[in-house]
Amino acid sequence: MRQAEEQTRRAELLDGARVADEIKREVALTVARLELEHGVRPCLAVVQVGDDPASSVYVGSKIRVSGELGLRSEHHALPVETTTEQLLALVESLNAREEVDGILVQLPLPREVDEAKVLEAIDPAKDVDGFHPVNVGRLSLGQTAFAPCTPAGIIELLKRNEIVMSGARACVVGRSHIVGRPMAQLLLQQDATVTICHSRTRELASVTREADILIAAIGRAGFIGREHIKPGATVVDVGMNQVTDEKTACALFGSDLEKRLEIIGRRGYTLAGDVNPAEADEVAGRRTPVPGGVGLLTVAMLMKNTLQAMMLRRKL
Ligand code: NDP
Repeated sequence: MRQAEEQTRRAELLDGARVADEIKREVALTVARLELEHGVRPCLAVVQVGDDPASSVYVGSKIRVSGELGLRSEHHALPVETTTEQLLALVESLNAREEVDGILVQLPLPREVDEAKVLEAIDPAKDVDGFHPVNVGRLSLGQTAFAPCTPAGIIELLKRNEIVMSGARACVVGRSHIVGRPMAQLLLQQDATVTICHSRTRELASVTREADILIAAIGRAGFIGREHIKPGATVVDVGMNQVTDEKTACALFGSDLEKRLEIIGRRGYTLAGDVNPAEADEVAGRRTPVPGGVGLLTVAMLMKNTLQAMMLRRKL
């Protein structure tokens, strides 16, 4: 009987699509109101260098969602041989244009381009990705700042699912500038007790097992297993990894294995997070699925940041 119960146990799934839709609806309503009352619409400029297929998918979705919510957008598609100086000149011209509210430079940039220099050239008031050192600094001081969209979206997901952060033990695995570090800062702002882990952390599982809220941002499919998770914990899976082989799929996917194998057969890969979903289901209280979890929140938060940039800069 107990065994049967354990076999059917599943962590509650946190629905990223629902929260992303809520945020997008709120943004669309405010955009429509501001246009009616003040005759203005937020404008997002997206800069893409080269034609990396993954970047093209991300840029395409940012442009499409902007349109759906009533924002204006500009797509600046530059050839792969664009130099740092040419990019700096474009960023300067976007900084100077009054009607441009948000500037996003799609990463990664080609290796020859000085990425840090380009990101630092963006006016912090238009830095809707939250990567400019001024915004990074403000965030770490607990001041109002544009926070990077993925971790900011995770905070919204936790809040809107009434997951208590204040006083909770939170552990972030990963210390990248895009996800891990800002995630830790945002959790700290919510009064969580935060630990950051990385590839040099000793006895990782003994640290992560202390966490009421565990955030995995590593980039290794199914890395977080049952031994890393405190019973009942909330597990947020940021990872987006392509799984192409049947053996890995069998180790990761429980109830939806058949569907995943069909997707691999049809498309060549299926998306997997950094958490082993089958094992997390045995232990966690709640978890985000991949796909359908964190990924959808990133674009929604970009729209929210762009709207916010317009309201702050134009004092609306
Ligand atoms: P990075 O590669 O920049 O960082 C990965 C981090 O994981 C590093 O800090 C690294 O530690 C740590 N790490 C690597 N191996 C281990 C290990 N064995 N044990 C503990 N820590 C380890 O990745 P990102 O932060 O950019 O992205 C992480 C994942 O999130 C990726 O799968 C990415 O695709 C996904 N992602 C998803 C987004 C979304 O919208 N859903 C947005 C952005 C990213 P160290 O610093 O020591 O090297």
